[in-house]
Amino acid sequence: MILKNCRIVMDNRIIEGDILIEDGVIKEIKKDIKKRDELIDLKNKIVIGGITDAHVHFRYRDTRKEGFISGSEAAINGGVTYVIDMPNDNPPITTRERFYRKYIEGKERSKVNIEFNYGVTETNYLDEVEGAKSYKIFMVESVGDLYIRDYSKLRDILNQDKIFTVHAEHRDVIEENKKRYPLNSWIDHCRIRDKRSEIEGIKEILRNLEEIERLGDKKPHVHFCHVSTKEGLDLIKKGKERFKNVKISLEVTPHHLYLNMDMAEELKGFAKFNPPLRTREDNRALIRGLIDGSVDIVATDHAPHSYEEKMRSVRECPSGIPGIETFLPLMLNLVNKGMISLFRLVDLISMRPGSIFQIDNSLKEGKTANLTVIDLKREVTIKGERFKSKAKFTPFENWRVKGVPLYTVAKGILYESSLVDD
Ligand SMILES: [Zn+2]
Repeated sequence: MILKNCRIVMDNRIIEGDILIEDGVIKEIKKDIKKRDELIDLKNKIVIGGITDAHVHFRYRDTRKEGFISGSEAAINGGVTYVIDMPNDNPPITTRERFYRKYIEGKERSKVNIEFNYGVTETNYLDEVEGAKSYKIFMVESVGDLYIRDYSKLRDILNQDKIFTVHAEHRDVIEENKKRYPLNSWIDHCRIRDKRSEIEGIKEILRNLEEIERLGDKKPHVHFCHVSTKEGLDLIKKGKERFKNVKISLEVTPHHLYLNMDMAEELKGFAKFNPPLRTREDNRALIRGLIDGSVDIVATDHAPHSYEEKMRSVRECPSGIPGIETFLPLMLNLVNKGMISLFRLVDLISMRPGSIFQIDNSLKEGKTANLTVIDLKREVTIKGERFKSKAKFTPFENWRVKGVPLYTVAKGILYESSLVDD
């Protein structure tokens, strides 16, 4: 197969040329490849290698909600070729045995490249798990024992040469707020898990990292996932400047860039997630973070539930929304609005996640083809019914955005996206 007339984004420039793919492997990238093979003329569309979503929940034990097959098909449809899956399955991935069972099944079934996080508990935190891309820490209740209840253990947990992904929401702040707000409205969900819970959660981690920095014998890397507040972003930014041994990075989600509390009552369960909706000012601060480089990566926190569950009342509605099929359209839309450059976007969704989690997702001759063809100028209407995910709903229903994936080549196989309007 030859992809003709590509504009390939590579090392902060655009290379014009053709891509020859044989048996799923990139054989050649150069101008005007002359060979008898199946031709797809891309007519100068953009090609991006190794788009990575470092935060997904494919729910492999709960195929009613998703699974490796539908999850990876959703990734492909959204133009994503690498994912990192989270350990909050039931039972949680907190033993080596569970990890490798999931690992083998996931690697076999997933149609995109998939990697896994290992779940940290108060007792298993010294486990060294070969193949784990990161060790996930929940500061709030998740599934079973996958939760650090006793924050005094955090210093010993974090004082290791590992990459940790931290869900930072402070348990005490949430418990306190629960006494104040009855959870009768969608905005109550935001009030209970208010900004202070994220801020205090991040402070708690940074305090421990400061001690570890002083001790100086270990070099942990802490990746803060789905940071949603201006203050949280500022705290982490300052931490980055202070630490030498300790590394920190942070991620934001597209829904925290675009949505805020003003929309809570209208969007109802379709915008119930953790951390919850914040303010318009936080949206702006996170977008500024994309521009000035303080945000390292964008990832979706793709967390499917059934439509029926998301239609329930605020108390009964589970937190989490699908996001992998709105990921690229929403991010390309920011490029079209002139907020970030295409190169900066590629940094946020391919190069930086690759380097933080040590995934070789680059586009190179001799490697299996994992790339996405993008129409940057095409306007589309977001429709949940077009999704390959089992969760066919989105808070962005009927939004008009500019920029969409047309084709995805994942593990060397070409797929056409269904997100394009007719
Ligand atoms: Zn998550």
